[in-house]
Amino acid sequence: MSQDHPYRRLQIPKDAPFELRPSSPGKGWGAFATRLIKQGDPVLIERPLFVIPKPSQYITDGDVFAAFQRLTPTAKQQFLLLRDNAGGPFESLNEALAENSLAMSANSGHGLFLLHSRFNHSCVPNAKIPETSGEIITMFAIRDIMAGEEITFCYKNDFECRTRRERHEALRFVCDCKACLLGTPFQQLSDIRRKFVRGLRYLTLGFDIDGKRQNSSSPIIADRKLKEAAENLSIPHCNRLIYQLLVSFLLEEEGLLDYLTRERLEPSMVIMPSLFETESNARIARIAMAEQTWLGKVQMAFRLYGRADAADELLSKAFRTLRGI
Ligand SMILES: [Zn+2]
Repeated sequence: MSQDHPYRRLQIPKDAPFELRPSSPGKGWGAFATRLIKQGDPVLIERPLFVIPKPSQYITDGDVFAAFQRLTPTAKQQFLLLRDNAGGPFESLNEALAENSLAMSANSGHGLFLLHSRFNHSCVPNAKIPETSGEIITMFAIRDIMAGEEITFCYKNDFECRTRRERHEALRFVCDCKACLLGTPFQQLSDIRRKFVRGLRYLTLGFDIDGKRQNSSSPIIADRKLKEAAENLSIPHCNRLIYQLLVSFLLEEEGLLDYLTRERLEPSMVIMPSLFETESNARIARIAMAEQTWLGKVQMAFRLYGRADAADELLSKAFRTLRGI
């Protein structure tokens, strides 16, 4: 039945390390590794068929039709192979775009990606698409992927801070990855870990994942004074270090501390010990950072909890200046 499926006619690069085929029931088709893909290797480099430089709520069928009309005959044929969750044809052009596009960080528009859109979602994925300033996007393996294994990436950037229920509301389908499988200890812990990560990020950055401060009806940080200190960027440096180490530890437990996440988090963390002005604090921070594991680092750094440092005031002022507060 799947032998004559339209996706068989999608043009995949000759050297691609994956093939498209039906996935588990309810998930349509997916992409599966055809050979071992090592961590850090590119899985797919793709240019969008077209880009519509508008936020999704303003994109109309007319926009998509105009973009379609400008395509080459071959590209038009490729676009017409797309199917709703690999099943029937789409009811509208806009729906076809919505199901097969990725947000472009460069121009806040949406690019139609024939192949990247064939990869299924997981909240604990084995591949990732880092943000890029151009139109071409690349998916990388964030761990070794064995031949035959399905290749997945996470569809939303803020899911490391979202519980299962919140993720499913955003996805509008039910994910069955290990962080979503109800009744398992991992899933229960996963919700707690991701809530914690969200709170710790709030304490460190002073705003929530939407870039805004939480209103008083459902604060991420219930302690009013602590919330104010976070928003005022006056969290003591000792606590700030502990929060950041805890985020790394929790993400590691969650299976989300891949090399790309480490590249994002580590630069600001490694300079933190050098910012202490109280030598006894700096010494503990250095010992903590020298520990081999994230748990070891967190355990050692906890000795600093609640301590003041001579650099606190100056650092808060610097953070506020940088933020323009
Ligand atoms: Zn999931």
